[in-house]
Amino acid sequence: MKIEAIRTHILDHPLGRAFESASMRFDRRQHVLVEVICEDGTVGWGECLGPARPNAAVVAAYANWLIGMDPLETEKIWITLYNALRDQGQRGLTVTALSGIDIALWDIKGKHFGVPVSTLLGGRFREELRAYATGSFRSEGLDRVTAIAEEVAGYRAEGFHAVKIKIGFDVAEDLRVIEAVRDAIGPDMRLMIDANHGYDVLEACELGQRAARCGIDWFEEPVLPELLPAYAQVRAGQPIPVAGGETWHARWAMQAPLEQRAVDILQPDICGTGGFTEMRRIADMAALHGIRLVPHVWGTAVQIAASLQFMAALPPNPPRRAPIEPILEFDRTENPFRQAVVTAPLEHKGGVVAIPDSPGLGIEIDRDALCRFAPKA
Ligand SMILES: [Mg+2]
Repeated sequence: MKIEAIRTHILDHPLGRAFESASMRFDRRQHVLVEVICEDGTVGWGECLGPARPNAAVVAAYANWLIGMDPLETEKIWITLYNALRDQGQRGLTVTALSGIDIALWDIKGKHFGVPVSTLLGGRFREELRAYATGSFRSEGLDRVTAIAEEVAGYRAEGFHAVKIKIGFDVAEDLRVIEAVRDAIGPDMRLMIDANHGYDVLEACELGQRAARCGIDWFEEPVLPELLPAYAQVRAGQPIPVAGGETWHARWAMQAPLEQRAVDILQPDICGTGGFTEMRRIADMAALHGIRLVPHVWGTAVQIAASLQFMAALPPNPPRRAPIEPILEFDRTENPFRQAVVTAPLEHKGGVVAIPDSPGLGIEIDRDALCRFAPKA
């Protein structure tokens, strides 16, 4: 079998109401899917994390090496593409683009052998995952405290066991939001906070010290991801477990945070850190260091499907009779094409998402939706 072509599909939709994390403003949703086409007609799908058009450009650049290769040789292709741009790459768009290609190749491999990717990865430990709701950005034109308290009460009513909210804007205002959220969800629902690297070390330590009494499971990206010693300072300077890793791409970027124990929880993204091929290695590295892995997920149903297949095959760590089950990040912000790109949406039921068991990623792409959400200009 040989790869004949590679295409990208940019999806675009303006938002009804713009929203912000500490580091980014969203007034539209844009994501990019990758389609790898084989000579025998088999097609595989992947997705890249991050800005759609730059990712699409790098995916197109990889075509030069990819066309003509055997799609089943995922390891050989990964290192060939990585080496092709290594001297100017190593992390960033070169790896996020490679991630989308790698996921598409595993989709092809699963279809070729007639099994889900989770079986290729070594077997399924679970058939469903509890999801946590990600939302609670700062919405333009709304009172932040009131709007977010209302929003999280909705997640509770839907059956989610946990919610992650956005902070990193201003310590005093963020604390008011956290307190309002804890009041709205009650004492039992799990709560995580994500600063999207909006604080400096002193702010992060102050926020963590004062927010800890609200019962927080993890404090995500408190400070800039390049500053590993600052992560260590935040871990030492406040009591909430520190999480991070969505911007660390490929094994080499994970090595120092793991060795230095910069985080308590590592959050690689399968669409950013190198696809299935690299996620397996990173999961092994995290397990080797005794650091918990909770994948980051932010994309369409293609990204959700890839994450589900990977997490189905994630071994319990530590193994025990009632193991710590991985939890799935489930973005709840406005994105009309998130589930529309597949014929059978990967929705939650009472905060639980079933893991598909059909071949490859276990999804069918709705090509009409790809046309409907293609950029207008
Ligand atoms: Mg995050």
